[in-house]
Amino acid sequence: MNLASRLSQLHQRIGAACSMYQRNPAEIRLLPVSKTQSVATLKEAVAQGLTCFGENYIQEALAKMEQLPAGIEWHCIGPVQSNKSRLVAEHFSWCQTVDSLKLVQRLSAQRSDGKDLNICLQLHLGDETSKSGLKAADLLALAQATVNLPRIRLRGLMTLPPPAITIEQQRYWFAQAREVFLQLQSRYPTVDTLSMGMSADLEAAIAEGSTMIRIGSALFGAREPKA
Ligand SMILES: *Cc1c(COP(=O)(O)O)cnc(C)c1O
Repeated sequence: MNLASRLSQLHQRIGAACSMYQRNPAEIRLLPVSKTQSVATLKEAVAQGLTCFGENYIQEALAKMEQLPAGIEWHCIGPVQSNKSRLVAEHFSWCQTVDSLKLVQRLSAQRSDGKDLNICLQLHLGDETSKSGLKAADLLALAQATVNLPRIRLRGLMTLPPPAITIEQQRYWFAQAREVFLQLQSRYPTVDTLSMGMSADLEAAIAEGSTMIRIGSALFGAREPKA
């Protein structure tokens, strides 16, 4: 199957979920996740009208940026080590994986582009210790510390819940994220983004209020493991 037909199937899935859960499709942004995909594939995606990409690995993203037209909106969706923060501040429009005051202070200081860097704070759900992100209370405290930083615009939260099989299990986690999002939104007028849902659980995410789904394999096909 080619990209055009996967894209149209994906739009059908989003449309079906929106009618099932009474959501307006215009309120759900599709962020194509292009990690491990080739420049040729990204160019094909641009030709299909896609204008933003989520990338997990900063060096890989920079190599692609050089070969794609200007004006694409790049989202950093992978962990950011301190020594890579400058690259994110200088080359991305969004950083969705902010999970410490130190990181957001560096991003603020290193942002040079005239436009604010859009950020999402990463919410940790479940109790696996390996995954990054902040517990709800810590996330709300960090939000307060970010709002007055120059060149940073707090847009919302991003979450990557523990693996869940049934839609009920998936919705259980996403409902928790929505609660935190609503608290953020009630406090800060710039907050409009609840980034949750991937290829396997976008319906559950849409049911629970997602405003941005991050889609890799359903759009680009199965990924080759990263070398
Ligand atoms: C890879 C990735 C995605 C996309 O996952 P798919 O299951 O391929 O849709 C979304 N978000 C993050 C943070 C990812 O790392």
